[in-house]
Amino acid sequence: MDQVQGLADDHTPGLCCAATMWGKNMEIKTVAVIGAGQMGNGIAHVMAVAGYDVLLSDISEDALGAAIARIDKNLVRQVSRDTISQEDKAAALARIRTSTSLADMGAADLVIESATERETVKQAIFEDLLPHVQPHTILTSNTSSISITRLASRTDRPEKFMGFHFMNPVPVMQLVELIRGIATDQETFSACKAVVDRLGKTSASAEDFPAFIVNRILMPMINEAVYTLYEGVGNVESIDSSMRLGANHPMGPLELADFIGLDTCLAIMNVLHDGLADTKYRPCPLLTKYVEAGWLGRKTQRGFYDYRGDTPVPTR
Ligand code: NAD
Repeated sequence: MDQVQGLADDHTPGLCCAATMWGKNMEIKTVAVIGAGQMGNGIAHVMAVAGYDVLLSDISEDALGAAIARIDKNLVRQVSRDTISQEDKAAALARIRTSTSLADMGAADLVIESATERETVKQAIFEDLLPHVQPHTILTSNTSSISITRLASRTDRPEKFMGFHFMNPVPVMQLVELIRGIATDQETFSACKAVVDRLGKTSASAEDFPAFIVNRILMPMINEAVYTLYEGVGNVESIDSSMRLGANHPMGPLELADFIGLDTCLAIMNVLHDGLADTKYRPCPLLTKYVEAGWLGRKTQRGFYDYRGDTPVPTR
């Protein structure tokens, strides 16, 4: 482990490994989260608060540092709102250990991959991870759109592989989509559903087709909002306020796209377009242009809005 963040005295690797083989009484105790971006830090946060030991990994040391800082900040907010105590906060932080090496993820009973939405990245992670995990370890991906069956088929355990799709921001959003690949067995599904229950969240089961349920419906709407901007039907402000006030959406679609990350939005549209072979899913060229510019939304401080000042300013 490169870094130990607030490690409790009794929190030894041996304890993490207490779980042995899957069986009727098997319990998930240690969860590895691969990818410490906006979703990975949220997943680590809720898992730690729920009492799981968390191993958080990223290729970037900076991303790991930023993730721990973000988790700390969000826990402080929960303490100030009295949703958790100061002791709960300290205990949750003490349960999270970070590493840039997948070799340190071996104690995990459940792996949730939450790295960049690119199939080659995810495939490489699972390939590199496999020599280090235990035979009983369940592998899952937080992918927003990529085929679970295809990711699973590249591993040694397609029956112990499934989609575990959180919503953003993870500590706030209630839903987790659970996606079975063609080979996922019932024991794996039930174990993941039990984790969602322990988090106090609600699961919805989705079949393994491009972008599953939420993003199959949400992302074409966001893409259409970008087309509306591209064609000059409205500007950023009028499109967002129209959908907030006219459709009663809590956020405008362009604001939401910035929140999700424009690279992720584009990747999901490409998966829909390729996977369903229907031109209605073609990504808007303006979305592609923003991504090519590196204007990925909030995470890079610029997207459909510029976040570098005190208040977000529309970029079109
Ligand atoms: P992000 O860009 O904020 O973070 C991605 C992280 O993955 C980065 O920290 C990056 O360093 C890390 N990474 C890249 N390659 C890696 C590797 N080989 N090994 C380990 N870490 C690696 O992205 P995000 O928004 O957190 O999205 C992550 C996943 O969650 C994607 O699959 C995305 O589709 C999914 N997701 C995103 C949202 C959302 O609203 N953003 C919602 C649900 C699910």
